[in-house]
Amino acid sequence: MKCKKHNLSYKYVCPECFQPYLKETAFSSLEEIREYQRLSSKRIKTTNPKSKINLIACLKIKYYNNVAYAGTIFYDIKNQKAKNFKIRKYKQTIPYFPTLLFLRDLEIYLNLAEQIKFNPDCYLLNASGQLHPFLFGVASDFGLKLKEEIPVIGVTKKNLYKSGKLINLKELNEFKIVGDIEFKNHLVGKYLSIKNLEKGIYISVGNNISLNLAIKIISNLLKYKIPEPIRLLNIELNKTIKNEIER
Ligand SMILES: [Zn+2]
Repeated sequence: MKCKKHNLSYKYVCPECFQPYLKETAFSSLEEIREYQRLSSKRIKTTNPKSKINLIACLKIKYYNNVAYAGTIFYDIKNQKAKNFKIRKYKQTIPYFPTLLFLRDLEIYLNLAEQIKFNPDCYLLNASGQLHPFLFGVASDFGLKLKEEIPVIGVTKKNLYKSGKLINLKELNEFKIVGDIEFKNHLVGKYLSIKNLEKGIYISVGNNISLNLAIKIISNLLKYKIPEPIRLLNIELNKTIKNEIER
């Protein structure tokens, strides 16, 4: 890629464009951030939890005018029921930089998790985990920073990292299609869609879960285009944002 403003070739992020925001982070350079991502990615665990996963805590952030609207919703898989949604607002000073979403969103996700007074069986973030050029999206960072070992799954509507290749598309069951996302010969995530729907979703491991179990869980939550907890939370977030605009 090439930055027209700085007449500079770059990968993912123009260092000059990013420079003014560096002081708002705990890092001293973009290289240091990459090193942090590379090293941290090696600490991700893909082993499954011992106990069954039923209660999911889903977290999602939506931006409007530099304000992060961050929501939590709980979802009981067995009863297919959502409950206790909450929305908080946070001021945001760091703009969107691809591959560096954690600088903007990690603290918010962790703050949302801190408000939860018990441990859910699993976290679902509307963000990437290992499906990331440095195998360390914000869902993985979140998973490592949690005080306890709780499974974290990352789900996005888009494949944010276009370098990942979609291969091995096949039927998962009567209703769904699944595929592998490969990046540099590694399986980094899965694609899942409902048959006859044009677009699917991208799933990856955040931490403490296998990709296979993650797919099983998300497939159980997928009735429409996006998994139920994310879809329901998205509706609530949109309502809140709309009310604020109209006020
Ligand atoms: Zn630039």
